[in-house]
Amino acid sequence: MIHDTIAAISTAVGEGGIAIIRISGPDAIIGADHIFASKISLKDAESHTVHYGHITDPVSGEKVEEVLVTLMRGPRSFTGEDVVEINAHGGVIAVRKVLDLVLQQDGIRIAEPGEFTKRAFLNGRIDLMQAEAVIDLIRSKSDRAFTVARKQAEGLLSRKIKALRGTVIELLAHIEVNIDYPEHDVEEMTSAYIREQCLLAIAELDKLLKTASEGKILREGIMTAIVGRPNVGKSSLMNVLTQEEKAIVTDIPGTTRDVIEQFVTINGIPLRLLDTAGIRETSDVVERIGVERSRDALQGADLILLLLNHNEPLHADDRELLQQLEGRQVIVIVNKNDLPGRLELDEVAGIMPTAPIVHMSVLQESGLDQLEKSISDLFFEGGLEAADLTYVSNVRHISLLNRAKSSLEDAIEATYSGIPIDVIQIDARLAWESLGEILGDEAGDSLIDQIFSQFCLGK
Ligand code: GDP
Ligand code: ZN
Repeated sequence: MIHDTIAAISTAVGEGGIAIIRISGPDAIIGADHIFASKISLKDAESHTVHYGHITDPVSGEKVEEVLVTLMRGPRSFTGEDVVEINAHGGVIAVRKVLDLVLQQDGIRIAEPGEFTKRAFLNGRIDLMQAEAVIDLIRSKSDRAFTVARKQAEGLLSRKIKALRGTVIELLAHIEVNIDYPEHDVEEMTSAYIREQCLLAIAELDKLLKTASEGKILREGIMTAIVGRPNVGKSSLMNVLTQEEKAIVTDIPGTTRDVIEQFVTINGIPLRLLDTAGIRETSDVVERIGVERSRDALQGADLILLLLNHNEPLHADDRELLQQLEGRQVIVIVNKNDLPGRLELDEVAGIMPTAPIVHMSVLQESGLDQLEKSISDLFFEGGLEAADLTYVSNVRHISLLNRAKSSLEDAIEATYSGIPIDVIQIDARLAWESLGEILGDEAGDSLIDQIFSQFCLGK
C-alpha cells in the first residue's frame, strides 16, 4: 500500500498562463487545506468541486498566490487516491513558492517522473498499455500520432487485447476439463477444438500485427532520403518541406557536405527527412565523407525521393542511381518543371516502371500536393483517414504479440504430433501470459520501473 503523498507542477514550466500543482495521496487534502485560505475548509468539501481562495504561508500569513483548487477524492481520481489540484496563473516564481509550501506540509514529498501515472497503474485505474500511451501523448510529434496515443490511453487497444485473452482463457478452461476427464474421445474433440481456437486467436493477432508498421511510421516518421545529382534541388526541396533555411543552398555542385535530418509532417504523415550530399564519384576528401554518409542514410531509408532535372537530358549518374534503387520504395521527382523540358521521361519509366513520377518546381513551390498524395498512397494505400486508429506501435507490445502468436502456433503443432494435452496447456498458458504482460498483469517490477522512468516530471 502507498502511504506517502506526492506533489509536482504538472504543467510545462515557463509556458505562462495557468500552472497546475498536483498533489496525490492520503495527506493531499489536509496538506492543501493547511495553506489554503478560503470560505470553505477542503476537509469538509465534497468531491469533484472547485474552490476559490489564496495560497497563504501559514507561518508568516503572507498571501502567495490567488488560486482555484480542485478536489477529487479517491478512488474517483486519476491516481485513484485523494487528489488536490491547485490552479495558479502567476509566473514561475509564484508557482515555485506554492510548490515549496505544499512540500513543507507533513507527509508530502516531490513526485518522481511518471509517479502519478504509476500510481494510477498500481491502483488499477489504468493498465500498462494505457500508461505507455500517456508517454506517447507527451512525446507525440504529429497530430496523427497524438490521436493514436489518445485512443490507446482511452483503452481501445487494451479492450482488443482483453478480448484476445478471453479467447485463450476459454481454450485453457477446455484443456483443464480434458485433463480432469481424460477419456479418449474427449481428447480427439479437444485437439480439434484447440486448433480452431488457436487459429481464431492467431487471426486476431495478425490483424493487430499488421497495424504495427503503420503505427511505427506514425510514431517515428518515415525515414526519407532525398537523393539526386548535385544541383538538382535537393536542399531546396528540403527547405520548402521544412519551411526553414537550415540546409545550405548554393549554386556550386556538391556543397551539401553532411547529412541533415529534419522532422516534418505532410498531411499528418510524419517524415524524417535526410538530405544527402550529391551522390557521385569525387576526389575531394571532404566531399567523399559526405557521399559515404549519404550512402549509409540511403541504406536505412524507408522512402527515397529521387530528384531528376527536367531541364537536362538523363545523365549517366542518373541512370546509375535509378538502377541502384531498384526494388526500393522510390518516388521520382522531376524538378525544375518551370524550365524547358530536356529529360527523357520514357527512359526513366523504362528503368523504374513502378515508381510514381511527380513533376515539381521546387523553386515555384508547385507539385507539392502530388508529392503528398504519392507518399500517402505508398504508405497508407491512401486510406489512413479511414482507419480506426488502433495501431500497435510500441516495440514491447509488438514483440509480446509475436510471442503469443508463436506459442499458439506451437500448440497447434503439438496437437498434430500426439503430444500430451497437459504439455499443450503450457503453450496456451504462455500465450495468455504474454498478452497479460502487455496490459501489465504479468509485468515484473523492473519492467514497470523502466517504463515509468521515461516520463517527465509532473505526469
Ligand atoms: P542540391 O545540390 O541538389 O541540393 O541543389 P540545391 O537545392 O542547392 O539547388 C541548386 C540550384 O537549383 C539552386 O540555385 C536552386 O535555386 C535551383 N533550383 C532548385 N529548384 C529549382 C526549380 O524548381 N526551378 C529552377 N529553375 N531552379 C531550381
Ligand atoms: Zn544540396
